[in-house]
Amino acid sequence: MNGPVPDPRPLGDGIHLIPAPLPFPSPAWVNCYAIEAEGGIVLIDCGCDWEPGRAALESGLAAVGLAGAEIHTLIVSHLHPDHVGMAGRVVEEHGCRFVMHRRAAARMDRYNDTVGFVERNRRIAEMHGAPAHAAAALAGSKDRPSFMPPLQPPDVTVEDGDRIDLGGGRHLEVLHTPGHEPAHICLRDSRTGVVFSGDHVLPRISPVIMYDEDYDDVLGDYLASLRRLLEMRIGLTYPAHGTIIERGSARIEQIVLHHERRLHRMLDIARVSPVTAWEVVGAVFRPHLTPDEQRLALLETISHLEHLRVGERIRREERQGVFWYRD
Ligand SMILES: [Zn+2]
Repeated sequence: MNGPVPDPRPLGDGIHLIPAPLPFPSPAWVNCYAIEAEGGIVLIDCGCDWEPGRAALESGLAAVGLAGAEIHTLIVSHLHPDHVGMAGRVVEEHGCRFVMHRRAAARMDRYNDTVGFVERNRRIAEMHGAPAHAAAALAGSKDRPSFMPPLQPPDVTVEDGDRIDLGGGRHLEVLHTPGHEPAHICLRDSRTGVVFSGDHVLPRISPVIMYDEDYDDVLGDYLASLRRLLEMRIGLTYPAHGTIIERGSARIEQIVLHHERRLHRMLDIARVSPVTAWEVVGAVFRPHLTPDEQRLALLETISHLEHLRVGERIRREERQGVFWYRD
């Protein structure tokens, strides 16, 4: 996920990989995919709205022989800035349709509200045992980064099972895969069987599964979404970060195992004596995390503890406004 941004290249069957650099150390780039379709290009994901990303998209299309090609459809896998950040600009410049899962439209106000994001993070961290100074630090900055300008909702929303027509009898099938983000979709190419997996299935790293108050059990949703792709026995998989995955199902099995191990570890900890999620972070993750890493680790930990609670393997009790998990 780190290191130099790879070169754009054709992947065959009219699909082209266009990596776009991101303004973070990791992941250092997002894989955008341009598909040759009837009447122009269908682009999957577009990266952050910053100059190196814009330049990479333009030069990438030229490098694979699609200079000046008309992007008529932008599909975004999920509502995170490294995937959707530049959507407004792409839509404006190309006049293309902007397609996301229905849930993304409902969550756009939330995406656009940086102050709400920070306040929510701080409140959740304090409710889960973080000291006030740590909760304030990990909540993030109220200054919205310029690479994620506020967005209009998608003008086309899709549901699981919908087909996005590519022309010539070919389509992308929408697979709703909530977990990493509630509006996350994967897309399956009807011609090749290739699955564009967004952040749902990544090589080497497992995507962070963040607790979200709007849903009871995001980790449960994620594991169910993984099992579904496993049952489909997916093969060649084009992820949004890192390198192409030859055997998608094999990679999914590894990710499921990773979460099962983590669940067992947390279950063992909570069975010894009551703990807060904040204490579990200290026990499970390496020390000296940055505030951003702390936020992700805490939300990941809560999603695991809540999955155990929903499955009635541990209980949760509230003491003076703080949640404790126990046997
Ligand atoms: Zn991502």
